[in-house]
Amino acid sequence: MRKKNSRILITGAAGFLGSHLAERFLERGAQVIGIDNFITGRVENIDHLFKNPSFRFIQADVTNFIHVPGKLDGVLHFASPASPIDYATYPIPTLKVGALGTHKALGLAKDKGAKFMLASTSECYGDPLVNPQPETYWGNVNPIGPRGVYDEAKRFAEALTMAYHRYHKMQVRIVRIFNTYGPRMRKKDGRAVPNFITQALKNRPLTVYGKGRQTRSLCFVSDLIDGILRLFDSDLNTPVNIGNPREMSILQIARAIKKQTGSRSRIVHKPLPADDPRVRRPDIRIARTKLGWTPKVPLEEGLARTIDYFRSGC
Ligand code: UDP
Repeated sequence: MRKKNSRILITGAAGFLGSHLAERFLERGAQVIGIDNFITGRVENIDHLFKNPSFRFIQADVTNFIHVPGKLDGVLHFASPASPIDYATYPIPTLKVGALGTHKALGLAKDKGAKFMLASTSECYGDPLVNPQPETYWGNVNPIGPRGVYDEAKRFAEALTMAYHRYHKMQVRIVRIFNTYGPRMRKKDGRAVPNFITQALKNRPLTVYGKGRQTRSLCFVSDLIDGILRLFDSDLNTPVNIGNPREMSILQIARAIKKQTGSRSRIVHKPLPADDPRVRRPDIRIARTKLGWTPKVPLEEGLARTIDYFRSGC
């Protein structure tokens, strides 16, 4: 569905995913209002959008009251620190943006009669006891561990979103985003892919935490954004996993990056962080059957594009 005159608000618009999303909505003819407070977002990610007359930007913290004049057709709440290092650095802002920020964004969507979308996460499943994880799995989360600030805020955000759907009859979309990589990730956001690429390009040791047997499933950002747009356009009010089901160990991912960069780096092992999920792989049957979505970009191609981005010094 391509609505020419739609007006969309994206929180976290200067972030990795928010900026790609803003770009794609502009490409399909929407007007986009971006909000970010630049805790982890970067103006470089949206620099190129400012020359587009359909793009507006508000520097604000979405945990405070949001005032946007005029109509809105969609509110997409993508603001949040999202890497384990970031939410350890900003634990209280992480809790606030997931809880208070979701409340404010929902309130704005309700006021405008807009569709609401929540950027949720595979972290809702915690350290999962079933693999792959279907949307029906309730998860295995430590509420008071270092990741609890993110996981519980997102779980609360899902509960709040479903309450607005049931009580206020709002149209809501909840996307459970699995590990995603690609251009515009911050070099120093602490996650595995940017760490390994940065280390490999400098021929420094690749830091694999623990034995590296824990698994993740990496989705390239363009695939993820396609899935998000399909979900936004659908009529599914319950959570949907979007991610790539190709599951690999962290050691395999480190080796793939070493090979693809042609690096002379060694692989070294560092302590495994607390509560680090041992496995993670999305069950994407709902996305496949109800949205007609499957990821298309092979790891090798996605990595090549991400390595180019990091090489270019961004
Ligand atoms: N990891 C690693 N070395 C790094 C950074 C991360 O071995 O330099 C591991 C981390 O312990 C986890 C996996 O890679 O098992 C993915 O971590 P990331 O921070 O990318 O995201 P997560 O999926 O844990 O949210």
